[in-house]
Formats: sequence, structure tokens, C-alpha cells
Amino acid sequence: MRVAVVGAGIAGLSTAWSLNRRGHRVTLFEQAPQIPNLYAASGDQHRIIRRAYAGADGYARTISEAFEAWEELWSDLGRRHYAPCGALGVSQTAEDEGDDYLKGLDRVGSAYELYEPAEAARRYPFLDAGTIRYAYVNREGGALFPARIAADLARLLRDRGAMIRDGAEVTAIDADAGRLTLADGEEASFDRIVVSAGAWVLKLLPELAESLATYRTAVVYLDPPDDLRAAWQAAPVIVDVGGTIDGYVLPPVDGTGLKFGAGIHKRPRQPGEEREPRPGEGEQLRDYFSPPFARIAEYRVDRVVTCAYTFTSDRKFFSREIGKVTAVSACSGHGYKFGAAVGRRVAAAVESGDQAGLLRWLKAE
Ligand SMILES: Cc1cc2nc3c(=O)[nH]c(=O)nc-3n(C[C@H](O)[C@H](O)[C@H](O)COP(=O)(O)OP(=O)(O)OC[C@H]3O[C@@H](n4cnc5c(N)ncnc54)[C@H](O)[C@@H]3O)c2cc1C
Repeated sequence: MRVAVVGAGIAGLSTAWSLNRRGHRVTLFEQAPQIPNLYAASGDQHRIIRRAYAGADGYARTISEAFEAWEELWSDLGRRHYAPCGALGVSQTAEDEGDDYLKGLDRVGSAYELYEPAEAARRYPFLDAGTIRYAYVNREGGALFPARIAADLARLLRDRGAMIRDGAEVTAIDADAGRLTLADGEEASFDRIVVSAGAWVLKLLPELAESLATYRTAVVYLDPPDDLRAAWQAAPVIVDVGGTIDGYVLPPVDGTGLKFGAGIHKRPRQPGEEREPRPGEGEQLRDYFSPPFARIAEYRVDRVVTCAYTFTSDRKFFSREIGKVTAVSACSGHGYKFGAAVGRRVAAAVESGDQAGLLRWLKAE
């Protein structure tokens, strides 16, 4: 089949990778002048992969397939873009998200080490023992490196004969005809079109607004105090810092930066709207994290990175078939970790036509 993929985030790149392996003729269109688009959800330095899930046990179980799909990708790329540094969770108050993640691990039978506050702060000296109930480490998790994965995947696809069109914005799609139009007026027809356009999807398929909403968020890269630098370098990813901010941390592993992000920081916006960080936004993001971190004012803001992404109301992943188009979004702030597995599943559904099976898998119910 001749298949177009619109959008070279992790969903589009992985789908193109899997379609190419299955022998299909793939053309991948990316609007940004380079891959990855640094403003897209798949463009940052690192993302968390973890077994731990709070309420969504289906995703906690499906993560086994995700790990296995990444292994297949590493073997194709000839290198791993993954640091298996483990996943730390922290609880500050009863039934906060840190607590929920721990209960999730219990439900799926994944082992962890549990530390009372003093022991947690001895192992992880950036924690303020007086503000936490407990911390735990689950070994099934770590950091994936999206910018490196994207660059390598684009290279691999080119080497294997796929057509990569960067700087090529798709402006319209005729779903019944399988035809798309580019910003310069060029038209092209395909047997199937996969739309994996992330936060921009509603510009192409506005009818999906009933299911998908777009948001803007930001993360902050920080320079820790000198005496905590080594502790951060050896730290696991932090899946949740407890309390009410929905906060997570990526440690400075393998040449990356120390990054803090918080779910409460997202705002409904169109992609591109409010792209520049606001004055003081880095300090605002940093200060969410006290508690549970000690000496937060001593962390220097290095830079703030803004980003656009989509959510569904139930936070499950999404797909819909419209004529010859499969629109797909592993979204809601937790889809990167499934990237390679999503690509394999989408490619299989494009081939078999089993869109209902794809949606069932994406929802992990
Ligand atoms: C701050 C933040 C933290 C996150 N943390 C995690 C985490 O720790 N772990 C995790 O698993 N997930 C995480 N996620 C979620 C994860 O990053 C996303 O679910 C995933 O990256 C989405 O990938 P995608 O390919 O669907 O979309 P995107 O990465 O947004 O890619 C879409 C691509 O399509 C291109 N495009 C759009 N429209 C067009 C067009 N018309 N023509 C051509 N190209 C087009 C865009 O330029 C872009 O490159 C996080 C998300 C954010 C924002």
C-alpha cells in the first residue's frame, strides 16, 4: 500500500517505521523544518516510562508490550535511547497521587522498595523528610530520550527508502479520496492516510473537537545546588511528588538536564498560542515543588520549554477512522512511553482494517 503519515511525532515516526518494516511505501509529512518539532509533545529531551499507573491498570499491564516494542526499535536502530534508572514515587498526604501510584503497583503485582521519611531523605537528599509520608522505588521504569529517538528514526526511515518530507505542512485532507494538499498547493493521493498530528489535529480534522481538547503547558530545566548535583544525577525518574500538583521530575541522566513539570500547569490553548514562556514562569513551576523538595529557592532556572498537547476527557488514547484516514493520538500527557507499540498497532490496523481492535487496544480497557 501507499501510505501517508501526517506528523512526525513519536506516533507518526513509529507508525512509519512499522509500515516500512511491513513492506508498505510510506511518505511522512512533517510541518516543522526539522525532526523533531521541538514545540511538539515528542520534541523534548526526556520522557518517563513506568509500570506505575494510578487508576489505569490497563495501561500498567500494557506497558509490558511497550517495553518489548522499544527493544525491537533499539535493535533496528542499533542503539538504545533509554536509561533504566527506576521510578520513584512520593506521598505527602493520604490518598494523594503518589499514594494512588503505589496502590496501582500493588494491584498489578509489581515489586517496590518502600522507605519511611528519614530513610527516603538519606537516599534522596533533595527530599524534605518533614513533608512526606513515605517514598518508594519501582525498578520497572526510567527515562526515554525523544529528541534522539526522533532523529535516529528519521535517519533509519530514510535509509530504508521511506520518503521523509520535513518542512511540509499538510493543509487539507479529502478523507474519502485519500488525497492531501500541502501548504504550497501540491496534492498527493494515497491508499491510506494516518493522521498523527498531535495538538494540530483539529486544524485538519475539526470534527474531532468533540473528543480531543488542546492545551499548552511548560516545563522548567533547573540547576540544583552544587551539593545536591550528584544526588540528582543518580536519581530515578520521579513519577509523582505527592500533594496536589501532579508533579513529576526527570533527573539529569545521560547528558540531559534536570526537568520539573506539573499537571496543574496546563491551560486550554490552541497550538502556537502563548508559545513564549511568561516572565517568572520558571520560578512558578519550580516553586510548586516545595514541598516535598528542600531548599527549592536555591535551584537556578536554566530555561523554560513550552509545549502543545491534546487530551481526551477520560485520558485514554484515541483513534478514529474517517474514510481512508486513521486519526490517532496517544495523548493525555502519558502517551510517549507507548510510542513504539502504538506505531506497531496502528500499522497492523492500517493493514488489516481492524480499527475497532486498534481503539480497544489504545484504550487499554
Ligand atoms: C510536558 C509534557 C510531558 C509529558 N511527559 C510524558 C511522560 O513523561 N511520559 C509519557 O509517556 N508521555 C508524556 N507526555 C505525553 C507525550 O509526550 C505525548 O503523548 C506524545 O509525545 C504525543 O506524540 P504524538 O506523536 O501523538 O504528537 P506530537 O509529538 O505532538 O507530534 C505531532 C507532529 O505532527 C506534526 N504536525 C502537526 N500538524 C501537521 C500538519 N498539518 N502537517 C505536517 N505535520 C504536522 C507536528 O509538527 C508534530 O511534529 C508528556 C507530554 C507533555 C506535553
